[in-house]
Amino acid sequence: MIRKLLIANRGEIALRILRACRELEIAAVVVHSTADADSMAVRLADESVCIGPPPPRQSYLDARQILAAAEITGADAIHPGYGFLAENAAFARMVEEHGFVFVGPRPEHIELMGDKVRAKETMRRLGVPVVPGSDGPVQTPEEAVRVARDIGYPVLVKAVAGGGGRGMKVVHDEGELVAAMELARREAEAGFGDPRVYLEKFLERPRHIEIQVLGDRHGEVVHLFERDCSIQRRHQKVVEEAPSPVLDDEARREIGERVVAAMAELGYLGAGTVEFLWKDGEFFFIEMNTRIQVEHPVTEMVTGVDLVREQILIAAGEPLSVDQGEVRLSGHAIEFRITAEDPDTFVPRPGRITHWHPPGGPGVRVDSHAFAGYTVPPFYDSLIAKLIVHDADRGRALRRAARSLAEFVVDGIPSTIPLLRAIVEHEAMRAAAVDTGWLERSMEELRPRR
Ligand code: ADP
Repeated sequence: MIRKLLIANRGEIALRILRACRELEIAAVVVHSTADADSMAVRLADESVCIGPPPPRQSYLDARQILAAAEITGADAIHPGYGFLAENAAFARMVEEHGFVFVGPRPEHIELMGDKVRAKETMRRLGVPVVPGSDGPVQTPEEAVRVARDIGYPVLVKAVAGGGGRGMKVVHDEGELVAAMELARREAEAGFGDPRVYLEKFLERPRHIEIQVLGDRHGEVVHLFERDCSIQRRHQKVVEEAPSPVLDDEARREIGERVVAAMAELGYLGAGTVEFLWKDGEFFFIEMNTRIQVEHPVTEMVTGVDLVREQILIAAGEPLSVDQGEVRLSGHAIEFRITAEDPDTFVPRPGRITHWHPPGGPGVRVDSHAFAGYTVPPFYDSLIAKLIVHDADRGRALRRAARSLAEFVVDGIPSTIPLLRAIVEHEAMRAAAVDTGWLERSMEELRPRR
């Protein structure tokens, strides 16, 4: 049983977890840096503990401070949210060694999926289709040349320890390969403390489609269908939707079943997302995220399953609240990430929000920690709200999105709302004719519409 849960995160996800705690009648403790002392999560929590100054290394990434806060407040469990320590296997282990419940997967699975090379090997072994590439890290330039010839150009150089869309280089021909590999190794060493890189076939104009899974302590695993996250900028998601407009029921069922079989064999626990690139009807595994994701609400809207509630109940040892046959798709949902950034350049623009009026009405959900008078601090990611719309079908969901984005008032700082409005109105979005490079190729064309 979990009676008191500590939320080791900030922003909208801290609030999202807090809301789940309230509805489960679990007391919530929020830890925060001095920059977040007046945050909404801190205001609404039963207890809050300041764990350090603004830089994440001295607060949200400081495992000892977080464990001390759990100790003094008498929490039973720790939810890491996403980002920060969410995919840090050492942290998950420490949490358990100190006698707290970690709301997340088993540490060994976090570790496994954090190493992208081992993750791919494992998934291949478990019968999941994987992007062609080097079988492990590539050590020497000669090896890279050989592997790249084998899989064919263009190839992508990726960091074994990469994440967040960083540490990837596209290489179009052999002449660029060795220099790109050296640069990628240096960047990976500096960014992730691990210089190892590997090669993958660079798929041109793919879609990004991911499968949401849940596993409990009793060996049950279900999937909750897919999310299509093809609208990206610099390999980071901007708009996500469910179901994917390019899958039919048969394809959906087939990939879902494969993923569930693999996860059941692994004994996967908690919420996770198996990510694929999709091209011409084929799926290629790229990575697995062993945590709740930013875009989880679209799945909640189309399935009616509260994923954060499930995470907490699973951690407490409860069986899944649904079996596979009970998970049904209903309507269509789209999520828009609203960030405090310049809509043309995506340069972060933190500052004080003077006016704040989120949209409402049927089928509209806003997950946000912002309010009028709130100052977006410069130290963290610039997400200020997620707008999620739900309606009977994709066409109606898009119209609902257009009217909701038009209602949304954010004054005092720039936001990406004008860009999101231009995306919704674009014929390629309406026709679902997009791929992971579409947004970047279309920025010029979207500009006059803003
Ligand atoms: P990260 O962990 O940094 O998010 P991922 O492996 O999940 O990295 O990839 C993020 C995005 O990068 C994908 O959604 C896709 O847009 C692009 N990408 C990754 N691998 C490939 C590939 N082999 N070919 C084409 N695009 C890719």
